[in-house]
Amino acid sequence: MFTLRPVFSNLAKKNLLRTYSSASSKVTGVYVPNKDESGNYVVTLIPGDGIGPEISSSVKRIYKAANIPISWEEVDVTPFLRDGKTVIPDEALHSVKKNSIALKGPLATPIGKGHVSLNLTLRRTFDLYANVRPCRSIEGYKTPYDNVDTVIIRENTEGEYSGIEHEVIDGVVQSIKIITREASERVARYAFQYALENGRGRVTAVHKANIMRLSDGLFLNVCQEIAKEYPSIKFDEVLLDRACLQITQDPNMYGDRVMVMPNLYGDILSDMCAGLIGGLGLTPSGNIGKSASIFESVHGTAPDIAGQDKANPTALLLSSVMMLRHMHLTTHADKVESAVLKTIAQSQFLTGDLGGRSTNTLFTDAIIKNL
Ligand code: ATP
Repeated sequence: MFTLRPVFSNLAKKNLLRTYSSASSKVTGVYVPNKDESGNYVVTLIPGDGIGPEISSSVKRIYKAANIPISWEEVDVTPFLRDGKTVIPDEALHSVKKNSIALKGPLATPIGKGHVSLNLTLRRTFDLYANVRPCRSIEGYKTPYDNVDTVIIRENTEGEYSGIEHEVIDGVVQSIKIITREASERVARYAFQYALENGRGRVTAVHKANIMRLSDGLFLNVCQEIAKEYPSIKFDEVLLDRACLQITQDPNMYGDRVMVMPNLYGDILSDMCAGLIGGLGLTPSGNIGKSASIFESVHGTAPDIAGQDKANPTALLLSSVMMLRHMHLTTHADKVESAVLKTIAQSQFLTGDLGGRSTNTLFTDAIIKNL
């Protein structure tokens, strides 16, 4: 008979405990402001790795020029191992806990030192259960698709990213996908609440319940149940493969709606949608938790262009705009967003990923002029 050989046994046990003990919650992203003595909102800033420091400094320059009432509390999240587990420095954790909000550049996980993904560690530490990834065509920036306007809400704590893998025997490995009622309920409820608050008339559950009958079946059942709590929002469901086909044939079909789905599907579908609107340099996201929320671009550290002043800061800037809206600083959000979009539409200072030849610095200067 087979003997299970755990690869991540401690992590696996921890995750199972964490997953099954997580409480169901109706909260949809609470923000408890922490202000400094001058009345500015204190926000944790994690500049990150690769192009992270360059795009973070672009955000800081623009915020200063626009007089946004924010004080950045910059923290280092270089991880270390404690009892074989990836640990983020206490100072960083305290800062996010205290401020309940953070803007984060991309993080690289040190390879070959036994660390688990830093991004996953942050999501687990703060139980950031919903990953919100809006994907909207940018006026003035032409792609083959000019009518993309959808919002992907990805379950962020379990599914295929549970980190539970075993080597069963030599040459046979097993990866366990966990779907729980609790986690499905809170992300589904978040999706409906988001649709309600953002004037979107429909929520679509994306799944593969035809193949993964129990796991995706549970996710889908829960979405159907939560839909009954929101009679003013239409609900439907679609298979992941069909959603990919339809959205690339006619993105209009997915306009004016919110798509909610398990972890891996959200990761893949959001990169695909980013491709429709012009690439990873443009797509923002927010990780929403019960007691803290962390906003970040969808892209990674882009090591190929790091340190060369070539990075496009738009994704992080638009993530910061989502953050300002979450903080109810709507006028400030509008101000930054319209300057960014105007600069892209003028197309004089586009970075390389958008087909231009400008540096990050010149692009940032142009945004500041457009404020
Ligand atoms: P990671 O492993 O951290 O995810 P990666 O290189 O695999 O890094 P990304 O960092 O997302 O993935 O980059 C994919 C491609 O997109 C790279 O060629 C990168 O240069 C480009 N890219 C990503 N973000 C930006 C950006 N903000 N500005 C310009 N180009 C970018």
